[in-house]
Parts: sequence; structure tokens; C-alpha cells
Amino acid sequence: MADKAAADKSPDTSGMTPMMAQFFEIKAVNPNCLLFYRMGDFYELFFEDAEIASRALGITLTKRGKHQGDDIPMCGVPVHAAQDYLKKLISLGHRVAVCEQTEDPAEAKKRGSKSVVKRDVVRLVTAGTLTEDDLLPADTNNYLVSIALLPHGDSDLALAWADISTGEIGCTEIPEAGLSDEIARIGPAEIILTDASLQALEKALPHPDSCQIITQSRDLFDTENATDRITAAYPADVLDPTSLTRVARSALGALIGYVADTQKGASIPLRSPQLGARKTLIIDAATRASLELIATNRGEARGSLRHCLDRCVTAPGLRLLSARLSAPSADPVEIEARLDMVAGLHADTMVTDGLRDRLKSVPDMARALTRLSLERGGPRDLRAIGGALSGAEALAGELGPVRDTAGGLARLAAALSDVPRDLMAEIDRALGEDLPLLTRDGGFIAKGYDVDLDEQRSLSQESRSVIAALQAKYAELAEVKSLKVKHNNVLGYFVEVPANHGPRLLAEPLNATFIHRQTTANALRFTTTELADLETRIAHSSAAALEIELAIFANLRQAVLDETPRLQAIADALAETDLTANLAHIAQTRNYCRPKIDESLAFDIDEGRHPVVEQMLEAAGETRFVANDCDLGGDAGGALWLLTGPNMGGKSTFLRQNALIAVMAQMGGFVPANAAHIGVIDRIFSRVGAADDIAHGRSTFMVEMIETAAILNRATRHSLVVLDEIGRGTATFDGLSIAWAAVEALHEQTGCRALFATHYHELTALADRLDRVSNHTMTVREYKGDVIFLHAVAPGAADRSYGIQVARLAGLPPEVVARAREVLEHLESRSNGADNNGTGDLPLFARRPRREETQNIDDPLSERMDSVDPDALTPGQAIDLIYELKRLRNARRTP
Ligand code: ATP
Repeated sequence: MADKAAADKSPDTSGMTPMMAQFFEIKAVNPNCLLFYRMGDFYELFFEDAEIASRALGITLTKRGKHQGDDIPMCGVPVHAAQDYLKKLISLGHRVAVCEQTEDPAEAKKRGSKSVVKRDVVRLVTAGTLTEDDLLPADTNNYLVSIALLPHGDSDLALAWADISTGEIGCTEIPEAGLSDEIARIGPAEIILTDASLQALEKALPHPDSCQIITQSRDLFDTENATDRITAAYPADVLDPTSLTRVARSALGALIGYVADTQKGASIPLRSPQLGARKTLIIDAATRASLELIATNRGEARGSLRHCLDRCVTAPGLRLLSARLSAPSADPVEIEARLDMVAGLHADTMVTDGLRDRLKSVPDMARALTRLSLERGGPRDLRAIGGALSGAEALAGELGPVRDTAGGLARLAAALSDVPRDLMAEIDRALGEDLPLLTRDGGFIAKGYDVDLDEQRSLSQESRSVIAALQAKYAELAEVKSLKVKHNNVLGYFVEVPANHGPRLLAEPLNATFIHRQTTANALRFTTTELADLETRIAHSSAAALEIELAIFANLRQAVLDETPRLQAIADALAETDLTANLAHIAQTRNYCRPKIDESLAFDIDEGRHPVVEQMLEAAGETRFVANDCDLGGDAGGALWLLTGPNMGGKSTFLRQNALIAVMAQMGGFVPANAAHIGVIDRIFSRVGAADDIAHGRSTFMVEMIETAAILNRATRHSLVVLDEIGRGTATFDGLSIAWAAVEALHEQTGCRALFATHYHELTALADRLDRVSNHTMTVREYKGDVIFLHAVAPGAADRSYGIQVARLAGLPPEVVARAREVLEHLESRSNGADNNGTGDLPLFARRPRREETQNIDDPLSERMDSVDPDALTPGQAIDLIYELKRLRNARRTP
């Protein structure tokens, strides 16, 4: 974890080979990284790094030379495949220092045969500082977070965040109690902080499995150093560090410093930072997990709200959807403006479809821009910029005529049309058809773009026809029709003849022209002075052509970087267009309605549906989803619905669907309902289902109580609380008491809008005592001892939970079901009497019923047998009865 001033500890390199001495020096400066040490076409790893990497990557561990008498463990990865290996190592939580040769080996040789090629670390690859498409998730941002904690002062905690692949950056001061919520909202890949901060804040940090937590020196967070870094990164009119508090400067400056350190000074096109907290709907980590906003509890995308709402056609659109879902707005004006835009497109299916169609081919400009800025970009990134710009211009044309009330779409169209046309035309003119990934491969500048380049290229083209002419000439001279001019990396260009013709070329007079170089099994190879000249000319012209291409690339790259802020604004507008069109499309196809959001305390959902369950039921071809109303507003707001009903009745689904509708509405999207009116919610809390947290040493009940405590301590009158089965993980009366007290507290102290599902039917008595509490139940119908779930919410309280019927449906052995019924009956009869405990004289499991006894219950065969009066049967009826009984027995055997 620690990455502190290790550089002071220079290793003793006496007695080592110069190469090993160099390795140790570089390793000492990068102690907590696996060192990828470049040797020719491989990155080699040594010592412990090699052991770790060979295990992690499943590659062979070899050895190279000795160190202090022992073999040096070594393994290596080929440079051309390094990305794949990096990806794996990063995903396993490692950090990698990439060490390149920084001079030509020929230069090193000039200093003496034993001198070692100069090498340096050009980049640290860490989870939070990735820029390559191969290493990055396309559909989510990849955030680095820095946390600064000052030992004294009122506002002493600040958090800065950045996605360097898109240039987004921000900084906010937060109370310590809000840290874990803010981290959960951002979902960083890596967090940096000092050792002291780590110790003080450990409980609020995510589990290291889900995020790399890296401690850094106090120097990095030192306010003065941090201020200098901010001043160097931003002109004073963009960000004046003195406008930030000390702790915010520390967090932001440390972040900028760490990014520079990992990129070894290469510049990142960071945008102007977003300062301060936006007015967002606060969702804590437990609620995020419970509502399965971005991923399900099993970590899968499918089944999450994002997956259900995602019809985005570009990666930036999907990233924006993730960001909006993670931090819906709590500002009614902002929400209404977003809804206006969605409504504008919702009204015009043709335009929406057209926009989505065009967006499909628009590349991810923000990430291409970062790569170009870091000198990691290639010709394809230039094309991405050009393609995105021409896409933006066309989209602006299509979007321009569409109107919405607040003018948001017009603003979007204006942003899209602010295209630097000269740059776009220049990129278009410059690039050829097929583009290589890397500039060094050349051949990406179009013919006709540059006269000098065309000239050098025609020289090398010409050389090819010269070779063809030479081959014909030599074939005639040597009188060998099968003579060929070929090329390989060892000999360069050479003449090859079959072995039987060899002697003629070796003898006078032909040996004056053909100089023998090599004899193979079937052929002899020769060079000529003409071929050697040609070789030099071709090499020269290719090198000259490449040099010109690289210079053109550098100019174009610079022209792109000069337009960075404008291009970033267009990239943002493209993402917003995709997201808005996506939300309009979803609303059209799924029949969602526009919610009304205001400052009231309303929560009035008419015929609401669960967006995910509805889609899943449809996909499975099952029964239609049953829509349900929910009204928690009332006159004064703050209504609390106590929801009882059978297991499997649909309580959790109803609870979640209302929370999800709130999230979707405040994100700025339409919602699965007939109509919805929501007074803006400041925080949403959802505790649905039980989970333990063994990694943090917390039992299921403990987790439940910690989460309930958080809700009762933090919910306000403007919050929405959704609680499912509080107090289930402990003794019945303890649980019932806790649930009882929680309902009272929510009603009396918090006064928030709340849904409370429970199997403690005793709680329904609260509706008579607390004026805003009302009872609601999931309706069922009983049919021949089975329950049929109607999934409809109705006023009133359930009298039972039908748990035993559901257990029977789930396949609990019949004798266990029978015994459960017996116990239930006993408990119920006792609880109706004086002994409220109900278990006082119950001989619990004192006698297990015999199998044949249990089979009498709910068994049609037994029932039929019981109904027969043998004396009343005719012989014919007796035979029919035997057949019927056999049929019933066979039916019982079939599971
Ligand atoms: P338990 O008390 O056992 O936790 P529950 O009352 O919370 O049960 P849910 O888990 O919400 O029940 O629902 C059970 C299943 O019923 C869901 O998986 C879903 O398939 C179906 N279901 C729930 N609500 C509806 C609905 N409104 N329309 C159609 N099917 C529904």
C-alpha cells in the first residue's frame, strides 16, 4: 500500500552487473509497483516481481544470472501483447511501472562495450489512471479519488476526483459522516490519501477488493505544494487556488500531483474543475446495493436498473446514464429542464430514431482527445475526432428544429454546431482510408495531401518497378528464367537461383556482377552493387516518408489540442444527446410517463410498475406486471404505509419500484407509471433483504441494525424511506419491538414519506394510534389450500403470511410442512389465550409425526380412500375405484 520516499534508500549496487545495478536503482524509486523492465521486444520482471507476475499471469518463471550467489527469478511479456497482461495485473490490484529504453542501444555501445542502455520509467499504470481503450471499461467512468483530511479546523475533509481518460475533475468539501456516501456515488477505481488519513477514515472507505487504496506521502498533500500544482495546472481566470479552502487545495493539488507522477509529466487535458457539491439526491452505499442501480447484488449488469434503461448507442452516452443514475438531481429546476428535453424528443419519434441512428457511428471523442494529449494517440484517434465533429454537425442540423419548453434542446443543438470546421476539414483531407493503430507504422496520410510525402512515396514505389526491371535484366544476363530478386531482413535484397544454376553465376564472367552471399539446400543467393544501392535508396525514402507523416501527425495533433475546451464541450453535448434520445426512446417503447417534480412533499404514483421486473416478466413470456398506486403525500406529506401480506406476494417489488421511480424521475427520465407527482426527495434510503458483511466482521443482524441506525439518524422530512422486514434476524419479540419503535420514530421524529413491509402483523395496530400510518396489504386468493398471488396492493392488513403454503410450494418435505402446521396451530391457539408467548407448553418437536400420518394431509389419495364406503359399492364401481386409486397413487409419485 505505502508508496513513500523509498527513493532515499539507494541500494548498494557494488559487485552487480551494470544492468542489475540499473534495475535496482529504478526499482528503489518505484517500490510498490511491478517493474516492467524493457529488454528488446520484451518487458522483463525480476526477483519477487517475477514471482508475483508469473503466478498472476500464468507465465513461466525462468532465471537469469546470479545475485549474491542465488539465481535471479525472471519472467517476461512480449511488448506487443503487453496491454492484455497489464489489464490482468491491474484487475488483480497491482500497479505497474513501465520502464523503457530511452536511448538507442548503438548510443550505449559508443560509451563502451559494457555500458548499459539508459532506461527510465515512462509511466505508472494504476487502476485510477488508465487511458487506453483496451484497459478501460467503455461504459463507465474510471475515477481516481484523493482524500485530504486536515487534523484541525471545522471543514477539515475534502475529496477530489478525476477521470483522466475524459478530463473530468472536481473537488468538494464534505463532513466526515458523508464520506462513504460520496465515495459510493463516485465508485472510484483508486483512492489516494496519507497514512494518517487512512487510519482515521478506514471505516468509511470501500473494501480494498473493490477499489485500490494507496497511501501517499504527506508532501503530496502539503497545502503549499498542492497550491503550486493547482497554479501550474490552471490559469488564474479558470481557477484561483486562493478561492479554495486549505483542505480543498490539499485534495485537488494532491490529485493533480499524483496524476502527473503516474504520467511522468505528460500533460492531461483536465477540464475546469467542478467545485462544491451539486444538489443531488443522496443515496448511501447500502441503498445503492439494495436498489441494484448499476449492478445487481451478484455484480451482474443484467437485472440492474441501468441495464434496463440502457438503449444508448454510444459509450459516452452510457457513461452519462451511469453518472446520472449514480447521482440523480435534487434540484427541481434542473430536473424539469432535463424532463423538458426528453419530452421534446419523446413527442417526435422520427427525429429521435434519426438521432439515434446517426449517433451509432459517432466515436468516443473525449477519450481520443486524452490519448492524443498524452502522446499515446494514433491516426485512429485523429479520425475519431474528425468523425465525432462531422457527426456533431449533422446532429445539430437534425436537433435544431425540435423545441422544448425550457430551450434545452436548442442549447444542445448550439453546442453541437460549434464545430471547428477548418480542423474537421483538415483531418478529413489528411487521413487515408486504412489507418494503422500506431503512427510509427506510417501509411496513414492520404495521397495528394503533401507534395514531399508523395515524392518520397513515389521513389519507393518506383524502386519496386526498378526491382522488377532488374530481375528481368539479371534473368536474361544469367540465362536463368527462374532467377528471382527477393528480400529478407538478414541479406536485404538478393538474387536467388536454383542450386543447379549456381555454378554458372559463381564462375567468370558472371561472378563480376553476382557476389555470392549464401547457399541454402536448394538455392544460391547473390547480391549486386545495383541492388545494394537500391536498398539504401528505398530505406532512405521510406524513412523520409515516415518522417514527413510523423510531422504532419504532430501538426494535426497540436491543432486538435489547441481546440481542447471546445472539443470537450462538443463531446459533452454528444453524450447528452445520446442520453436524452435514449430516455425518450425508452419512454416511447415502454410506455413511461413524464413525472411532475416540485418542492412539495407529494409522492403520488398512479399505477406504478417495477421497471426491471416488468421487463423480465415480459421477456419470460409470463403474466403481465400488476400496476399499483402509492400515495405517501397526503395533506401534510410524510405518510407511512405499513405493508403486510404473504411471502412471495410482491411486497419487496412494490417497495423497490417506488424507490426506483423516484430515482428515475430525479435523474430526469420518464417513469413506469400512469402518472407521478413527486415532491423532490433529498435522500433515499432502502433496506430490502438481509446480507452479512463477513469481510468487515459484521453479522446479518448487525448489518441490518447499522443500516437502520443510519436511516433513523440521517433521514429528513424530505427523504423517502423504504424498509423491508426490519428486525427479522433476531428473537421474535426483540425484532417486533425494534420494528415497532422504528415505525414510531419515522412517524414522530423524522416525518418522512415511508414504506414499511413486515410480517409482524402486530404492527398493523399502529395505524390506529399514529395518524399518518395506514395499513396496506398484498392481496391473495386461496384455492383448495393453495395461495394465488394477485400482486395487487389494497387497503387493510393481512391476517397471515401463508409462509407454510409458500414453503410447501418450494418443496419442503411433507412431514416438515405437516409438523409446521401443527406447531403454527398450537402457537396461534396459545397466543389467543393468556399465554402470549404461545410456546409455554408446546412440546416442540417432542414427537415427530410418522410419515403415514403426514401423508393424510392434503393427499387426494387418502382423501378419496376416506370417502369410500366399501359396503355401498357395486362390483363395477369397485373396479372403477381401483383404477381411480391407482391413478391417484401414480399422480402422487410424480414430483
Ligand atoms: P417475501 O415476503 O417472501 O420476501 P415478497 O412479498 O417481498 O416476498 P416479492 O419478492 O416482491 O415478494 O415478489 C415475489 C415475485 O412475485 C417477484 O419475483 C415477481 O416475479 C412477482 N411479482 C411481484 N410483484 C408483482 C407484480 N406487481 N406483478 C406481477 N408479478 C409480481
